[in-house]
Amino acid sequence: MIQITQLQGNFIKSPAHKIGIDLGGTKIEVVVIDPDHQITFRERVQTQADLGVQHILNQITIIYEQALASIKGKTHTLGIGTPGSISLKTGLLKNSNTVCLNGQALKILLESQLHHQVHIENDANCFTMAEATHGAAQNHNLVFGVIMGTGCGGGLVINKNMWVGPQRLAGEWGHMSIDPNGPLCFCGKRGCVETYISGSGLERIYQEKSSLHENAEAIFKLAKSKNALAIDVINIFYDRFGRCFANLINILDPDIIVLGGGLSNEDSIYSVGVESITKYIFNDQLSTPLVKNQLGDSAGVIGAALIGI
Ligand SMILES: [Zn+2]
Repeated sequence: MIQITQLQGNFIKSPAHKIGIDLGGTKIEVVVIDPDHQITFRERVQTQADLGVQHILNQITIIYEQALASIKGKTHTLGIGTPGSISLKTGLLKNSNTVCLNGQALKILLESQLHHQVHIENDANCFTMAEATHGAAQNHNLVFGVIMGTGCGGGLVINKNMWVGPQRLAGEWGHMSIDPNGPLCFCGKRGCVETYISGSGLERIYQEKSSLHENAEAIFKLAKSKNALAIDVINIFYDRFGRCFANLINILDPDIIVLGGGLSNEDSIYSVGVESITKYIFNDQLSTPLVKNQLGDSAGVIGAALIGI
């Protein structure tokens, strides 16, 4: 994990401390950013989703109170990043992989438990916000961020402002179906980008071909050691990767794309992946920089702090 203490780049000026909380599947992380851009507090606690909603709320409360103690209760904003999003129709959380939180009025529950207003945002949006203001994309205007981990989340930041759209759908490129006969996605559709361009997607392709389970990192290693089956699987992965990113760039033509999540650590993404995009883009060249994040694991929680209220 990259340990960042001093944030660089374009900071939104505010006299208040910023507290950010990132809800993961197995851990909750908090940071405090002071008015001088310093990260002054950082802590993680484990969660067990099978213990239910109240357990998660209690863990959030514990970590929030620690952060609050570190600033001696001074004025602060509070932002929460989570997989999924708050439905505009119902106000309830949807599409989170911490499934016990789906269908919960998370904002109301948290505000009553923490006695502070909260703004809740999708974790890929938080990631993109952090990288667009303080990370790899801080010198660019139209920034698309992609988290390629277990799933594939996307976020859009324009001129340092998060763009969520009137339906809060902006950036949900991971659930664009590219194959009606493709694998069933958790969203109920078939052949979503996420079923190919993600760690779990790569593992599924490998398992279909070999009946064996390997994690994404091991599959890349096998391909590098000239394992024919793994090479075949990686070729399929990069073919889909090129098509999916070319579709994205054809629509948005972003100034830069920043990658996060486990797959962003694979070096060949930035060579073989870029070649594949170049093949499928509707242009005679590809000048869009495709870069690795700079804030590492901290991007999500820093982004959550930046969007707090
Ligand atoms: Zn889907």
